Amino acid sequence: MIPRTLHAVLDGVSAGALMFAPRLLGWPRHLTEPMFLAGAGVAAYSLVTRYRDDAAGLIGMNEHRALDAAQGAAFCVAATRADASPGVRRTLAAYGLFSLAAAALTQGEHPVRRMGRQVRLPADALVAAGQMGVAAEVAPGLAYLRLGIVNAVFIGPRGAGDRGWILVDAGLPGTAHVIEAAAARRFGAAARPRAIVMTHGHFDHVGALETLANRWDVPVYAHPEERPYLDGSRSYPPAAPEAGGGLMARLAPLYPRRPVNVGPRLHDLSSDGSIPGVESWCWLHTPGHAPGHISLWRESDGALISGDAVITTRQEGAYAVALQKPEMHGPPAYFTPDWAAARASVRRLATLNPKLVVAGHGRPAAGPKVAPALALLAEDFDEVAVPCGSRYAPTA
Ligand SMILES: [Zn+2]
Ligand SMILES: [Zn+2]
Repeated sequence: MIPRTLHAVLDGVSAGALMFAPRLLGWPRHLTEPMFLAGAGVAAYSLVTRYRDDAAGLIGMNEHRALDAAQGAAFCVAATRADASPGVRRTLAAYGLFSLAAAALTQGEHPVRRMGRQVRLPADALVAAGQMGVAAEVAPGLAYLRLGIVNAVFIGPRGAGDRGWILVDAGLPGTAHVIEAAAARRFGAAARPRAIVMTHGHFDHVGALETLANRWDVPVYAHPEERPYLDGSRSYPPAAPEAGGGLMARLAPLYPRRPVNVGPRLHDLSSDGSIPGVESWCWLHTPGHAPGHISLWRESDGALISGDAVITTRQEGAYAVALQKPEMHGPPAYFTPDWAAARASVRRLATLNPKLVVAGHGRPAAGPKVAPALALLAEDFDEVAVPCGSRYAPTA
């Protein structure tokens, strides 16, 4: 077996040799150029490879080995066809066989359990599929707006008017006009919110925040521990693309981690749990996914706005995200650095026995099957929600 660290060294040597050795050896030009490109290709996919389980990188060792094998096979084919001397053809064949051997003999990656379905949610637990661009009412005075892969939430009765409602979270970058139009449609033309409340500051929840806060001239409320990520002073820890095994997780290193800055408008939520302007709701600290993550709770009808503490689709996979396949799911794995806190938060939310869950990702879920599904997720959290093999998982 070739250890992965040795494989990394061989990749570096191969890339350099492919790029420069043919020129030094005086091979004809119609061979040096493709060889140089092949070497650059090896260098490129090597640079984005995770040679260690805890390293950053877009592709794992198994994908890397597949690329090595494909490259090796291509060289073997080239050796039989190249318009070159027998010595050059032998060299091409030898390199091709070397690549195939390296692919076959290198250790695979530490097996990362692909996150399957966590806790099933029956289709009849889902409420209103939000029409794109229109907020769907899911309970009195509560509507959600689907913005592609993420949701924003409106609190306040229809026709609430200027300063008569609250926005929870602010979607992806570029969605300010969609949120504004949906708000105007629900609350009245040019109706500004009284406040924007942030469940947390991840990029897919703060995308339109600066634009909307300025345009509406509105205060922004968040948990004090989330403040550094909203006033521009601190970035979130690196993503864990190895967590969850789906495309959305793999791409996570590309997601922005830099904080937005709404500092001058930013206020700490009151420690008494109240939310300014809405008596019926309170906030709960639900850290883990982010240190200052909060959820919003309305006791009177058991409505829970869970943010990313609990979500209702498998956010790690692009297919599940596109179709919003329903399930009760722990926080998006690739962006969750503290699993012990995340577990405690889910357990706390489960004790509320919510009748309606409006999450940051996925369609809202309501009815008698919601609380049992959440209870099951809380109970089996370590087995179903915590990704093994993630750099942040408590047991690797
Ligand atoms: Zn998040
Ligand atoms: Zn999110």
